[in-house]
Amino acid sequence: MFKNEKPFEIIVLGPPVSGKGTQTELISKTFDVPHISTGVILHDIKSDIANPLAAEVMGYMDKGQLVPTELVNQLVAKRIKKDDCHLGYAMDGYPRTLEQAEFLNKNADVDYVFLISVSDATIIERMSGRRVCPSGHAWHIKYSPTKVEGICDTCGEALFQRDDDKEETVKSRLEIYHRETDSIVKYYEEKGMLIKIDGERHIEEVFQQIVRKMVYDMRSKIGWK
Ligand code: AMP
Repeated sequence: MFKNEKPFEIIVLGPPVSGKGTQTELISKTFDVPHISTGVILHDIKSDIANPLAAEVMGYMDKGQLVPTELVNQLVAKRIKKDDCHLGYAMDGYPRTLEQAEFLNKNADVDYVFLISVSDATIIERMSGRRVCPSGHAWHIKYSPTKVEGICDTCGEALFQRDDDKEETVKSRLEIYHRETDSIVKYYEEKGMLIKIDGERHIEEVFQQIVRKMVYDMRSKIGWK
């Protein structure tokens, strides 16, 4: 690492199906930093029967509730201190509450907070059109339809709609998202850190916006036009 070089610490916020996981993965690959997702960390704990926290975590996740902030904060603090984060990290799924954002502010030095903006109407359309097969392959009736309607192209199994993708559930998930995230968005906006990205475009275009914003920011910091 060069003198004065600071690790890239990047946070990606966004509603469900905004593509934030995909964008975080692209940032992770491009800048060679780990992709940290609290959803994945918690899922791994939940699936590990030897883990003493498994039952507790499962209780919250299976009900679609947030896992207590204190536990998630400790998991994140530990994760970002690991050796593989020496060049930084790209994180999604966290912070989810104002308390988590404040904790992160004390325990990390975040450079970029991207918000992948997608309208509620688009989210409802993306989610309610999603179909999956029992092996987890995902399709969309409009954006990535299968060759034979209702049958998975990859494994030939019958497709179905996940309960949490049904329109009524999607609406309630969106309500929870807004309740949780609007305060965090405001928090980062007030700090002048929030970078809004138009998430209604293609994956590549969304990523180009992210990279452009970073380059623009770096140029202005070192005084380049
Ligand atoms: P995700 O994959 O980000 O949708 O997360 C899946 C589940 O993990 C959520 O429904 C929560 O139960 C839990 N979870 C993930 N991230 C957090 C977080 N930052 N704070 C609390 N719970 C979380």
